[in-house]
Amino acid sequence: MPRPERTAAILVAAGRGLRAGAGGPKQYRELGGQTVIFRAMQAFSRHPDIFAVQPVVNPDDAAIFNEAVAGLRHQPPTSGGATRQASVHAGLEALAADKPDIVLIHDAARPFVTSAVISRAIDAAGRTGAAIPTIPVTDTIKQVGDAGHVEATPDRARLRIAQTPQAFRFDVILDAHRRAARDGRSDFTDDAALAEWAGLTVATFEGDPANMKLTTPEDFIREEARLAAQLGDIRTGTGYDVHAFGDGDHLMLCGVRVPHVRGFLAHSDGDVGLHALVDAILGALADGDIGSHFPPSDPQWKGAASDKFLKYAVDRVTARGGRIANLEVTMICERPKIGPLRDVMRARIAEITGLNISRVAVKATTSERLGFTGREEGIAATASATIRLPWDDKGWSE
Ligand code: MG
Repeated sequence: MPRPERTAAILVAAGRGLRAGAGGPKQYRELGGQTVIFRAMQAFSRHPDIFAVQPVVNPDDAAIFNEAVAGLRHQPPTSGGATRQASVHAGLEALAADKPDIVLIHDAARPFVTSAVISRAIDAAGRTGAAIPTIPVTDTIKQVGDAGHVEATPDRARLRIAQTPQAFRFDVILDAHRRAARDGRSDFTDDAALAEWAGLTVATFEGDPANMKLTTPEDFIREEARLAAQLGDIRTGTGYDVHAFGDGDHLMLCGVRVPHVRGFLAHSDGDVGLHALVDAILGALADGDIGSHFPPSDPQWKGAASDKFLKYAVDRVTARGGRIANLEVTMICERPKIGPLRDVMRARIAEITGLNISRVAVKATTSERLGFTGREEGIAATASATIRLPWDDKGWSE
């Protein structure tokens, strides 16, 4: 049953993330093959109880923002202010015309927020009007004075770490932000602090230790390793393809146009290298073969450029939450000579697949003038692909 209240979310992404080191604002950096902001936004965009996701971005970042969150449902981004508080205020004003009942305010630098935490936030705001996710403190916290001497040891049992999304009745938090702006207050580091200042009672609900904020370069290194470890279901596939020579003056090989005394007889562009790679990837996924996805009987593939097929196969891996670990293709022919083209072909495959070139191998061999490849009647190619998938409910056996 749909909830009676209408809930919107603000994604605060206007910060410059200077503490996270070089590489631009941290929310636009990649983590586990996706940008941080994409990960943060998708939990809200795909949540069934959220009708609008309002991003707040730095206007200088408009182009990278659009690229980073392509495909996700969101409102047109609004420009952030000089402080986090001003940015949230701008997001609230941008949503005001839509009259949400509840608003969740989330930092784009927390990419591991789950649908469960979002649901708890909506419930808590509906019950209490103002609520924040917290987690217990496990270390003992010291209050330290200017001289570096311990002044107090607060009772750990009463301390909590505050997270986002913080959740509020929309009209109440908008009013609090307007009052703070009028009073010249701009120093609140989270919305709960502003709400407290405005006299609201702020409740707490159960946060999630995984919903951490990415701050330092070490955070990125550690989380990258953790995400890689989750992709532990490692699969390998192989592919094989042949195309015969016909009339023509060039061949398409591994996505590269190669001048030659012959062409390929083929329904598509006949790129045996890319076709073998597509079958290797589909094989690793146990997801049919190139012929079952792109039937030669279908006229739309006539003369088709084979990079489309390879991109499609890569998308099948991404759709399963996986990543390609490496691709390898071996061309079997007397001519053309592949060696001088090897790195151009590797670069082209890397470009099509989005892989680092160090994960793409192109090899070649002749067949010592034996067989159809030796007689230069055509070219064969073999390929292999290793992919990493997340562990899921598909165990080893039935
Ligand atoms: Mg083929």
